[in-house]
Amino acid sequence: MSKPMSDVADMHWQYDLLGSIEVGIVVVNRDYKVEMWNQFMENHSGLLPSKVVGKNLFDVFPKVDKGWLQRKAKPVFDLKTPAFLIWEQRPFLFEFSTNRPITSASSFMYQNVTLFPLASLSETVEKVCIVVYDVTDQALGQMNIERLNSELENMSRIDGLTQLFNRRYWQEQFEREYKRALRTDEQATVLMLDIDHFKRVNDTYGHQAGDKVIQALAGIVKSSVRETDYAGRYGGEEFAILLPNTSVTSAVSVAERIRETAEHTEVTHEDDHIRFTVSVGAAEFSADYATALAWLEDADQSLYAAKNGGRNQVRIHQPENR
Ligand code: GH3
Ligand code: MG
Ligand code: MG
Repeated sequence: MSKPMSDVADMHWQYDLLGSIEVGIVVVNRDYKVEMWNQFMENHSGLLPSKVVGKNLFDVFPKVDKGWLQRKAKPVFDLKTPAFLIWEQRPFLFEFSTNRPITSASSFMYQNVTLFPLASLSETVEKVCIVVYDVTDQALGQMNIERLNSELENMSRIDGLTQLFNRRYWQEQFEREYKRALRTDEQATVLMLDIDHFKRVNDTYGHQAGDKVIQALAGIVKSSVRETDYAGRYGGEEFAILLPNTSVTSAVSVAERIRETAEHTEVTHEDDHIRFTVSVGAAEFSADYATALAWLEDADQSLYAAKNGGRNQVRIHQPENR
């Protein structure tokens, strides 16, 4: 074969190669004029090379973020170092729909993109090759895992019946707050709540009605506390609320609000209209507590005092009694 013929043959297989690989290849010069547009890019954009090659990339693809791409490409031109754009930072460079609009959970193609320098004989970088990888499956897989993980994490700290924190998670937060309060000497108060004569609710209206009452109280608690407070279901119909940066006086007004709202709430179950009350014990943090548990026990004792005092009331732990 003569020399020119072999050159043509080489070009041919190289062209086939670039055409058949499952990545996008775009070559642009310093002015972002497109010099190469392979089959992958044609298939996904619907634009033939004849419509793209010789044109400014941003004219053909106005949706490509010009400033961003230029910023990423600058070191590739100037320092000859490749650059990597990953889908976690930006889902795509070129907005393509996915190959599998029916089966895929995404309507667009996630892309990883590599920009690498094409040095000329003079060693300066005159062109940059943009390689586009379709990473839709990988991205969706990873996002699925992340979603599942966060669901699992949520499940492991949320009580199913009330959507409040469960006991284990609440205790962890309580321990943390105890240590923080020790360190910073800031105020904090803990409340223990228990529904009064709850056995009667169950006995009179049934366990399901009882569950509804627990949920109603959880709702009242949730709407009475701040984002920064920790409300947890401590036991069956017992709740614990930790109020960071809160004096016992302020905490008691929160507790009173809960108590009063509960007193005026009617829970409907089938044909029954159920009324209920709660008792609350409060204990303010003090650096004298040797453990978080000792602090909680004082709140529990005040709760006990509220029960003994006739229920439907809030009692505060008196430090001098300790
Ligand atoms: P007190 O005023 O002294 O608190 O009286 P009480 O009847 O509420 O007594 P106690 O707090 O000891 O009773 C709690 C009852 O709550 C016992 C248990 O059968 C019931 N219970 C615990 N967990 C659940 C639950 O998840 N759902 C329902 N429906 N009942 C529960
Ligand atoms: Mg009770
Ligand atoms: Mg109880």
